Amino acid sequence: MKIKHLSVTLFLLSVLSVLAISQSENVDLGIIYKIRQEGFKNSSIEELAFGLTDFVGPRLTGSTGNNSGNEWAKKKMEEMGFQNVRIETAGDFDRGGWDNLKTYAAMTSPYYVNFACNPVAWTGSTKGSVKAAVVLLDVKAESDLEKYKGTLGGKIVLIPSTSAYEVSFEPLATRNTDDQLKELSMAFGQPRSRRPPFDRAAYMAQRALREKISEFLSKEGVVAILNNAGTFNVPRSTGARYTAGSPEPTAELNLPVEDHGRMQRLLEHKIPVEMEVEISNRFFASPSVYNVIGEIPGTDKLLKDEVVLIGAHIDSWHGGTGAADDASGCIVMLEAMRILKAINVAPRRTIRIALWGGEEEGLYGSRGYVKTYLADPETKEHKPGYDKFAAYFNMDNGTGKYRGIYLQENEMVRPVFEEWLKPFADLGATTITDRTTGGTDHLSFDAVGLPGFQFIQDEIEYGRGYHTVMDTYDRLLMPDLKQNAVITASFVYNAAMRNSKLPIKPRMTDIEALQQNRRMY
Ligand SMILES: [Zn+2]
Repeated sequence: MKIKHLSVTLFLLSVLSVLAISQSENVDLGIIYKIRQEGFKNSSIEELAFGLTDFVGPRLTGSTGNNSGNEWAKKKMEEMGFQNVRIETAGDFDRGGWDNLKTYAAMTSPYYVNFACNPVAWTGSTKGSVKAAVVLLDVKAESDLEKYKGTLGGKIVLIPSTSAYEVSFEPLATRNTDDQLKELSMAFGQPRSRRPPFDRAAYMAQRALREKISEFLSKEGVVAILNNAGTFNVPRSTGARYTAGSPEPTAELNLPVEDHGRMQRLLEHKIPVEMEVEISNRFFASPSVYNVIGEIPGTDKLLKDEVVLIGAHIDSWHGGTGAADDASGCIVMLEAMRILKAINVAPRRTIRIALWGGEEEGLYGSRGYVKTYLADPETKEHKPGYDKFAAYFNMDNGTGKYRGIYLQENEMVRPVFEEWLKPFADLGATTITDRTTGGTDHLSFDAVGLPGFQFIQDEIEYGRGYHTVMDTYDRLLMPDLKQNAVITASFVYNAAMRNSKLPIKPRMTDIEALQQNRRMY
């Protein structure tokens, strides 16, 4: 009986502690109501989406389009009434500026067909329009190059396919199922995937061989190099490893898998193939990466210098218009700020938006921001902004709606986010996972021990579409993006009003971290 009393007491205590937590989170449901009304009934998402995709176009880092995107975002922030709006240098950009001015490619023999292809960024041009024979290059080791010596000048070289088209029996677009979300919510200590570990040695060897081949082909004086786009049948945009000031690499195209495969099979059957190509690319000085920043200033005497930051990357690849990756994130963040301005909030802390440059080439923009304001990523030396930093929220997983949030292994924020997500249970955003997620700008903050988060999003068509020519306005799901703006606005508002900053992960010694990693994986 005593035990029963004890369990009743424990039950009451736990109820009380839950109440205490929800009280301490103090979510203002009146404000959430206003955010939802403004975000769902008066949304600017469609207009913002049109602006940053169709109107601005692709935004490759260092390109003219990237600059237009920055100017567009700055203007929008000013129109929306944000303060301290600026385009700010984040750091150096070693590749420099590159614009594609013209791409035309067609097979002209054995019959005519034109190709919807995409130039590899930071590669060179052809000398006007050139008709030339296509040669299939069969090179598995550096020594195989010998037999081609002196034979490739003036030819177009087709690099054999590394992967074939695979018919998919899966749906084109998917949402998270209840089971998947449940699994994610119980992911603590579970390995991320059962895929074989990445073979770095093989990758590096392949890359070294590719560089030898490029060097050889450029010495031979080939007209252009042709690649297939990868495992998907849509050309995926990529960039050459290039440093500003080096000689321009040979012109190179990413062809759709089907077009590439057809020419490869013709050549394997010893049928001569001829193509006509005209590629015009412009290299120019563009030595910096930029971020676009604006804010709603804090109003609390003691807290207004503390910053709640939201962001997404404004740079994209050059095929398509970088709609899902990551115009979607940028417009959600802009819309979240617009909503807060529209309902006239007076946040205690400053709410800041940052649209990052250079994410695709290695998180240049967010890393630069962290290094300038928060902490040196190498020495970990803190800058004045470090202790004033409340939280960072990022969106970069496509157009799908939020289903919850990744804790980035910071279990201390779980009770906080539980309370913050409660008003959005009806929208399906309820999952909290301990798991980390990677690949984008919140990592720059996490790397120096500051709380940086990404939301869990439905996949939709992201895996197929990102970095391709089909990443355009057409594939944005406006209702999903509206929902994301509403939840983001409410999260930043809560973070800006909370009595204290979000808890940060305690520092561990290297040995402790190592032991923990061994236990978990
Ligand atoms: Zn991205």
